[in-house]
Amino acid sequence: MKTEVLPEGVLAQRQEGVYSISPRVALGRITPDQLNIINSVVQEFGLPGVRVTAGQRLKLQGVPAQRLDEILRRLGPVGQFCKYYVQACSGTSACRLAMQDALAMGAKLEEFLNTFSLPAKIKAGVSGCSMCCSESFVRDIGLVGKKHGWSVVFGGNAGKRVRVGDELAANLDDEEALRVIGAALGFYVREAKMRERTARFVERVGVEAIRESVG
Ligand code: SF4
Repeated sequence: MKTEVLPEGVLAQRQEGVYSISPRVALGRITPDQLNIINSVVQEFGLPGVRVTAGQRLKLQGVPAQRLDEILRRLGPVGQFCKYYVQACSGTSACRLAMQDALAMGAKLEEFLNTFSLPAKIKAGVSGCSMCCSESFVRDIGLVGKKHGWSVVFGGNAGKRVRVGDELAANLDDEEALRVIGAALGFYVREAKMRERTARFVERVGVEAIRESVG
């Protein structure tokens, strides 16, 4: 069977010739202008609606093949795909329980991750406190805001083989946390097999090897 090459952010649906598009919703935030664009596309093209995914993304479903290019053009920058998606909670911008600014750190992390070319997809979750609303312990990279800084978690997964990530370091400021993540990812890039997710990688090489790599 021939594999269809689709633009980033586009997925084939179960029905033949029908696609879904995940517009860019960085850190779960969306502006009124972006909402207007999405709304006008949904209405104009008679799409069945928009679904919110578990990872804070929007999904335009029921896109017919013959309108796919046109709809992507209309979405413009909103339709751009995030290379490595970062999920973040509202943190100190809104939540009374927050210990750290999860949105600001999430933006830094997304920019940082985009400098890597990784062997498999990764998901990241930044939570402003130990309640972990961004599911930081079941993401490839997790950050948890504590009173004295960030805890860095690595190797979590919420898929069919669930794995709770391992804490690599704690009480870090933003730059220190990025340094630890960068060191762990550098080791992962050097040692992982193609398409080996971090959870399976940690199981194979052992968490102590990861901890040694971050110093
Ligand atoms: S993780 Fe903490 S700071 Fe973030 S939304 Fe949940 S309770 Fe608030």
